[in-house]
Amino acid sequence: MNRKEISAGGVVYRQKDGQLQIQLIQDRYGKTSLAKGKMEAGETVEETALREIWEETGIVGKIISPVDIIAYQYNHPEYGVVDKEVHYYLVEAGEGTLKPQIEEINGVDWYEPQEAWKKQLQGGYSNNDIILQKALELLKIDV
Ligand code: ATP
Repeated sequence: MNRKEISAGGVVYRQKDGQLQIQLIQDRYGKTSLAKGKMEAGETVEETALREIWEETGIVGKIISPVDIIAYQYNHPEYGVVDKEVHYYLVEAGEGTLKPQIEEINGVDWYEPQEAWKKQLQGGYSNNDIILQKALELLKIDV
């Protein structure tokens, strides 16, 4: 039996001077991605998503709706093949200023939707395409 891992995170957005912006992180593997992290005992997936967004990026978010779940496998040096599931939510940014947790991620920033989509296509994991696409759809944004 492969090891299983469940993580949760979000497509975080904010309004800045009347312009919608999307949060993207640079993960510790050098790829464009979304804030997320592993579930802890006693947490709901929504709680995990908001805790990880807060810990990794310094932003206090509010869940707006589920987006989707992605699944992938990766090879862990100790545990071997891991079956991973990541639950993503659309999350509105509340208080807090961007403060990347450098132990976990390489960086975090805000991007206008068009720019975020381009960055995702160029440097993101392809299974996150659908996540960003669905989130933009929920926000009624065409890219
Ligand atoms: P977390 O605690 O945030 O879930 P982690 O660093 O323990 O993070 P992953 O982000 O899943 O775990 O990274 C483990 C491996 O999977 C790395 O090699 C990474 O590049 C790869 N990976 C990360 N995200 C994806 C994805 N969406 N699709 C495919 N592989 C991914």
